[in-house]
Amino acid sequence: MDDLDLLIDLHRTAERQGPGSDEATRQALALSGLRGQRALRVADIGCGTGAATRVLAQDLDAQVMAVDVLPQFLEVLKAKAENAGLSNRIETLTASMDDLPFAHDSLDAIWSEGAIYNIGFEAGIKAWRPLLKPGGVLAVSELTWLTKTRPQELTDHWTQEYPQVATAAEKIAQLQAAGYVPVGYFPLGHDCWMEHYYSPMRARFSAFLAQHDTKAAQALVAAERCEIDLYERHSDYVSYGFYIARRLPD
Ligand code: SAM
Repeated sequence: MDDLDLLIDLHRTAERQGPGSDEATRQALALSGLRGQRALRVADIGCGTGAATRVLAQDLDAQVMAVDVLPQFLEVLKAKAENAGLSNRIETLTASMDDLPFAHDSLDAIWSEGAIYNIGFEAGIKAWRPLLKPGGVLAVSELTWLTKTRPQELTDHWTQEYPQVATAAEKIAQLQAAGYVPVGYFPLGHDCWMEHYYSPMRARFSAFLAQHDTKAAQALVAAERCEIDLYERHSDYVSYGFYIARRLPD
């Protein structure tokens, strides 16, 4: 099994593949102004197994297109949508977020939790803007520094892993420069990381290692354990920020 297959195997049974919660998705929805609008077309980009997709389909009058580059996650998403009685509102699409097949001016909202980093925040918000209708909503969560200064080991780790990590002020300025009106921001709480992401992942490690008795699997778990430990010691300084913005007309 190669490294990608191992990663998929560790994450495909999880409720979510990154920090977040249904409550945080609903908090962002409350800021978005989408509730109460009719017949929306929404895309959830980098949806994983669809934790946010299901909330969007439940809470909005919308057709939700769930997009991910990994069909293995979309298969799980389809089964979950079926179980939740939401399959008539959710479609799936295997595609890369840097080459989305949507027409210009066609989407009422683009949602993306913990995924835009794959192409980088600045590239993502630029590439996705033309796909939104003027006035359409962009809602993305993105790794964010909560403070101006922070422990050196934390800065070193995340700037190495994701050089675009920055403060909310910088991310909001990037949104404005790219032709959006920011309408809301909040940082994800500690529960989004521990209760909903890291703790369930930690609980899967021993079964995962029993199933995959390889150096690559051990290295993957060791890297995840290091990241969890770093977060637990420094959660005052870093989180995902949820950014909600509207596309300005050209
Ligand atoms: N949004 C989900 C959630 O919060 O549970 C998943 C977040 S997970 C950290 C990032 C997701 O982005 C994964 O499902 C991964 O397969 C997907 N992804 C990675 N690169 C991608 C790309 N180029 N295009 C589309 N999806 C991608």
